[in-house]
Amino acid sequence: MTPLALPFASELKRIAPLFFEMSMSTFSDLGLSESIVRAVAENGYTTPTPIQAQAIPAVIKGGDLLAGAQTGTGKTAGFTLPILERLLRSTNLAKNKTDRRSIRVLVLTPTRELAAQVEESIRTYGKHTPLNSGVIFGGVGINPQIKLLKNGVDILVATPGRLLDHHQQGTIDLRHVEILVLDEADRMLDMGFIHDIKKVLAILPSKRQNLLFSATFSDDIKALADRLLDNPAMIEVARRNSTVEVISQKVHPVDRDKKHPMLAHLIKTQAWSQVLVFTRTKHGANKLVEQLIKDGINSMAIHGNKSQSARTKALAEFKDGSLTVLVATDIAARGIDIDQLPHVVNYDLPNVPEDYVHRIGRTGRAGATGEAVSLVCVDEFKLLADIEKLIKRPIPQEIIDGFIPDPHAKAQPIQLRSFPNPGQSRGRSGKPQGKGASPSAAGKRPTAQHNSPRRSGGRGS
Ligand code: AMP
Repeated sequence: MTPLALPFASELKRIAPLFFEMSMSTFSDLGLSESIVRAVAENGYTTPTPIQAQAIPAVIKGGDLLAGAQTGTGKTAGFTLPILERLLRSTNLAKNKTDRRSIRVLVLTPTRELAAQVEESIRTYGKHTPLNSGVIFGGVGINPQIKLLKNGVDILVATPGRLLDHHQQGTIDLRHVEILVLDEADRMLDMGFIHDIKKVLAILPSKRQNLLFSATFSDDIKALADRLLDNPAMIEVARRNSTVEVISQKVHPVDRDKKHPMLAHLIKTQAWSQVLVFTRTKHGANKLVEQLIKDGINSMAIHGNKSQSARTKALAEFKDGSLTVLVATDIAARGIDIDQLPHVVNYDLPNVPEDYVHRIGRTGRAGATGEAVSLVCVDEFKLLADIEKLIKRPIPQEIIDGFIPDPHAKAQPIQLRSFPNPGQSRGRSGKPQGKGASPSAAGKRPTAQHNSPRRSGGRGS
């Protein structure tokens, strides 16, 4: 494999300038067959998004791809459509329903939710083709998956841990994989999946097409891309509405122990009906849900320790509007596609500034306006400064009546998410998230001090 000197994101932009508008081409112009274009049209999409306009021809051509794109850009169709096209065009199609199918495409995702969503997209877009797909992830019984694999699938979507479980049990045959997709590769690395990914790579046939999607380009991602990709096409796009400009952002300064009453107050007085709330830890998510339920606010939590059925139920109720508040950790929320979410609340600021952008990008999707509110206590001033540095602008602050923070409050260390649960059926090597997190002795919870004083500037109101 040719080592690749990967450019930084800024250089990628030069190679493939940022597009904020939808492209002018049609899906047929991009080289997709009628059966695929028809399914896309039935799904209500007529114009490819920028990533689709660039990725679809590149993938159909057959080369490797490195794409910088987040959820919300239309990236899933950006790889599923040309993959379906490639399989359709190839001669290895099963001639009839009794032919044994082999896995020709493997899509790896970091979370169960994303895996399920990607597979649903494949089914939607491939419904007029003879191709089929399946999904496997941890946290649910393995037997139905064994049956699925035995029956044969053309395109398999999987989380890495469960995929390796199947490999160890000899219930999966990956010898015919022609295309590998690593979706949200940065998040997979954040979740400690690098060893699992390396194991999977070692099992796959060496001659294959590789597509790597990542929202960020850390050194680890560059190293992975160097190892994986051969002379890839490179694309980077901004999410259609991620640009922080279109989302109204606000910080409400608050005392550490007043966050919960403040949230309940905001939900009730402002009649919020659909709120996605982010907490730093799973424990924090559970505790907040208990408190909100006591306040009479319909809430559920979604995180790696919840069973798959509980997560699916919470998500379904939240999507259909019957659940007011969904409390999530970053990992659980990653990849969840909820359109037109009016309110996102950062109950805790994230340890990693980039997560702030991912979080607030969940509001105002599909062109709707959204509001992102952060409840910030004295412990989080340094995190806030890091976020403002990243987004290159201060976030307006507003003190809520009855919640004036104690000006003499002292910062305390923040409990970091020490060993993120990768959402698998068994323990995986996890690495602590965020700076300040140190992989200290197992079981010991690292903490970090984020207590730099807020720079002065009189932005509070
Ligand atoms: P993704 O980035 O793949 O998570 O997609 C984000 C959202 O955009 C999903 O709800 C898709 O169904 C939707 N979407 C994908 N392609 C298009 C398109 N060409 N036009 C409008 N919406 C799209």
